[in-house]
Amino acid sequence: MTQENMTVDVLVVGTGASGMATAITAASQGLKVLVVEKEARFGGTTARSGGWLWIPGTRLATEQGIKEPAGAAKDYLKHETTTHFDEARVDAFLENGPKAIDFFTQKTCVQFDMPAVFPDYHAEATGGQPGGRSMVTRPFDGRELGPRIKQLAPPLPELTVFGMMLGSGPEIKHFMRAFKSVQSFAYVTKRLGKHFLDVLGHGRGMTLTNGNALAGRLAKAAMDLDIPVWLSSPVKKLVVEFDGVAGALVQHEGKTIRVNATRGVVLACGGFPHDVERRKQLFPACAYRQGALLAFARSEHWRRAAARRSGGRTSRRNHSARRRVGAGISNDKARWVKGRHASFHRPRKAGCHRCDAQWKTLHQRR
Ligand SMILES: Cc1cc2nc3c(=O)[nH]c(=O)nc-3n(C[C@H](O)[C@H](O)[C@H](O)COP(=O)(O)OP(=O)(O)OC[C@H]3O[C@@H](n4cnc5c(N)ncnc54)[C@H](O)[C@@H]3O)c2cc1C
Repeated sequence: MTQENMTVDVLVVGTGASGMATAITAASQGLKVLVVEKEARFGGTTARSGGWLWIPGTRLATEQGIKEPAGAAKDYLKHETTTHFDEARVDAFLENGPKAIDFFTQKTCVQFDMPAVFPDYHAEATGGQPGGRSMVTRPFDGRELGPRIKQLAPPLPELTVFGMMLGSGPEIKHFMRAFKSVQSFAYVTKRLGKHFLDVLGHGRGMTLTNGNALAGRLAKAAMDLDIPVWLSSPVKKLVVEFDGVAGALVQHEGKTIRVNATRGVVLACGGFPHDVERRKQLFPACAYRQGALLAFARSEHWRRAAARRSGGRTSRRNHSARRRVGAGISNDKARWVKGRHASFHRPRKAGCHRCDAQWKTLHQRR
């Protein structure tokens, strides 16, 4: 194999939300950026996800007339993260999250919708809110990606109806009520009809929703900024010079290319859900315990991720590479949802924001 050289300001590894958002931000500041992706399709786990963001205090909330009490978001995160609460990080997130939303919604095609009622998963907890923090990526017309739509990772089959990913909120309501309301029946018929025509014409649905819309919109924003994205191009090794990372060796079209990055290499390579050993170290509570089937069923929590499609423990190399150059993996267990999945109290619990919000939603429907 021959080795070639090239130099950029920033090398971004991975085409999920983290990588693409970083690339778009850097390129919009005038930096020369290259994004590399090991898979033949872009979008990573992000393209298969729900595409919801949880960011308190955004302009979207203000536009809904939602103003939350000062300090509530911080109190909530403190409550949710318990012993893992990291004040400096939380402050940085709360300060910069709304700015990031302003940047993307005002300068790029990456847009979000905030439902008026979408409670925090523990809305009744300290600092929890009945709405104004969760936003979903606005559906996106896949045609805007031109031929690149074929390179967008598809949604998870488990989350689709005839290969069609449902949008959130009002769309799901229509599907749930398709045989109870004429209006919903008409909506569902039209949506399915359009989907089947798209599949006939393009081989896939073109109304992208949720994580597919997020990956699609980020890809379009990157295209608008002429950011090169190399697919089927894994980073094989970080190049370390003196005491820092100077670039990486990238396998691309049969060659090993040394990409020098003058301003930095961003490893946005996702997680390691299939690396049981690594998860055992970081998440002992849910790591795989060998033993009886019952213990397995109780303790293991398999997550669907892009890595699975390419043979499992693909991330170990990246994370090992990080460790070799002195970087660490934070054991913060940051998460969108704490522990268990959301469920409403049955019967409705007095004083619970989440129950109240659901009650209100149901009531409005009637
Ligand atoms: C079903 C489902 C629903 C979800 N819903 C939500 C939600 O609504 N809200 C939310 O906040 N989170 C949600 N999540 C979690 C969320 O999807 C992930 O946390 C997020 O997508 C991670 O983004 P990322 O950019 O860090 O990584 P990824 O999206 O996984 O991207 C990493 C990319 O790096 C590439 N890569 C890895 N190694 C290399 C290498 N050596 N060289 C080149 N490329 C490499 C991978 O192929 C991949 O494309 C959901 C997850 C799932 C599975």
